[in-house]
Parts: sequence; C-alpha cells; structure tokens
Amino acid sequence: MDITVAYFHTLFHVDTVKRDFEQIRATGATSIVYAVHEQEDQRWPRDLERGLKLAQEAGLKVMLSLGRYGNLFAGPSHIPSWYTFRHPETCIKDRHGRFHNVSCHNHEAFRSWLFHEIEYLLSSYAVSGILLDEPRCPDVTCFCSVCRALCPDITDLQHFQRRSFIEFLSALFSTVKAVKSNAKTAIVLLPQDLNLVDELVTIPQLDTLGCHLFWQLLNEDISQVETWGRTVVEAARQHDKRSQLWLQNFHQDEEGEQMLEPSWAKLLSAEPDEVACYYYWRNNCDPERVWETTRTLLRRIPRRQLHWQPAFARLSSPVANSNQAQEGVQ
Ligand SMILES: [Zn+2]
Repeated sequence: MDITVAYFHTLFHVDTVKRDFEQIRATGATSIVYAVHEQEDQRWPRDLERGLKLAQEAGLKVMLSLGRYGNLFAGPSHIPSWYTFRHPETCIKDRHGRFHNVSCHNHEAFRSWLFHEIEYLLSSYAVSGILLDEPRCPDVTCFCSVCRALCPDITDLQHFQRRSFIEFLSALFSTVKAVKSNAKTAIVLLPQDLNLVDELVTIPQLDTLGCHLFWQLLNEDISQVETWGRTVVEAARQHDKRSQLWLQNFHQDEEGEQMLEPSWAKLLSAEPDEVACYYYWRNNCDPERVWETTRTLLRRIPRRQLHWQPAFARLSSPVANSNQAQEGVQ
C-alpha cells in the first residue's frame, strides 16, 4: 500500500523544506501532492524548481495539483484563477445570460491555455504527474455560444454538459501523457461527486481514482468512510486503475482527533492501493498531536521497501540496495 502526503507549504526556506520532506519520507510515503496556483508559478518559479527537486532528492515523487486553474479545481489557497479573472469571456453563461465565475470547459481558448500550461509545468519542473483536486462538473448548465454550437439541441444541453466534462478530463489526461508518456494522472473526488466514477474509469489515460473521505467536514456518519471507500476501490479495480483514499487529518478539534484512528480503520478496510493525508494542514486544535497521530497510523501500514530494515539491507548486494533506494523516484 503506497502512501501519499499533501505538502501545502511554501518552498522558500530550504532547510525547513528538507526537514519536512525527510519527515514525510520517514513515514514510508513515496509521493507528495504539491499544489501550484497560477500566480505562484508567475512569481517564484525558482523556488518551485528548487523545492520540487528537493522532494525528488528525498525520494518523493511529486504529483502536481492544478490549484484553482479556471476555478474548476480545488487548491489550498482561496484565490480565484488568474486566467478566468482576466478572461471573463470564457466564463460559464447560464440560461438568463448571467456569467458565473468558472471557465467553461468547452471554451477553446481556455482549453488551449490550460493544456499549454500543463505542457509547460511537466517540462519545467521535477514532477511525476498531474493530480486534479476535486474537479466539479459545473452545477449551472452553460449556454455560452461554444456550448450552444456544440450542442444545438437545447433540451440535451444539461446532459451534454456532463458528457463534455468527461471528454474534457479525458483530453486533459491525454495531454499529460502526450507531453510525458510515463507521467501519472490522478483525480480526487469529493464524495458528493462519486456519481462521476462510472464515467471516469472509462478514461484510458487516467491512472488513479481517489476520494476525500472527509465525513467530519461533510457532517456525515463515520460509516460513510467505508461506503465511499469501497465504491472507489471497486470501480478502480474493475478498470485496472489505482485507488487512493484520503484521511481528513486537518480541521480537527480534540473530539475529532479521537476519531482519526477509527476513521483510518474504516479507510483501510476498503483496501485501497494508496492512502493519503496531509502534512501539518490547516485549522487543527493541536497541529503537532494530529501529525504525531497521523505518523503512528502510517507506521502501521506494512512496508514494501527493504531499506528501512538495515539488518537485512546489509546482507543484500550494494547494487540491489542502490536500486531499492531509487525505487520511489522517477
Ligand atoms: Zn459553455
């Protein structure tokens, strides 16, 4: 079972970043998710380049999340998409002619910009793939000129929106693979969007299907962790995709902290290929304790890598050891 940890912190202080990545690696994690927002890439590309290399040097693959691009995805900073702000003509237009603050996924200029950005990010930084964080099929049916032209039957527009959203994601993942054939693609859904699963698993270029099992944040019963988890794991397994289930180790008060362990047990019972959580993420009552609890939970996962067992490693040949040490890095 692989471990992924989201690292949503600045990369400015090299020593701090190194220490953090070592701590993350020591949990047995092989990947981090790092989110980039358009504004960050514009303002501090050197920090991004250096920071993401440090992750690689620590033995961590980087899955890059497109933070708020087009306001279609989630992102750790609550800032709007720079592109959408500057290109209001790409926004979704409802039946009354009102614009909404999300770029229409069918808009050719938006798609071309986004796919070009993906190409740039993959070829500029030490990243192993692209992750889409909570992509949402827009709730509002788009009546923009592009959607109307693509779907002249107005009664079909609502269904077209969903079909075309899947097609958009498929085109996005195809772009990733075209730029870098060994790059990985992942999508992490909110539980309320799990109805997209059956269509998402049909996308050949999608590697990993994930879900944020945030029952506390969503005011749901803990039993839902298992229900949501199994939905994702089964769908992924049937279509040769990997499943990734996320623990809500943020926004926890003292009572919530007590539920981390039972939540984890339910998450594991779904038997995902990967588990994921956050490194010191926001609004915990006791951030240190939440990370300690998270580390304890992660340590209980059986390890594949042998270089954590020094006694055994000494018996192996130096060549084998060096390959194992490289195993987690692309
Ligand atoms: Zn549209």
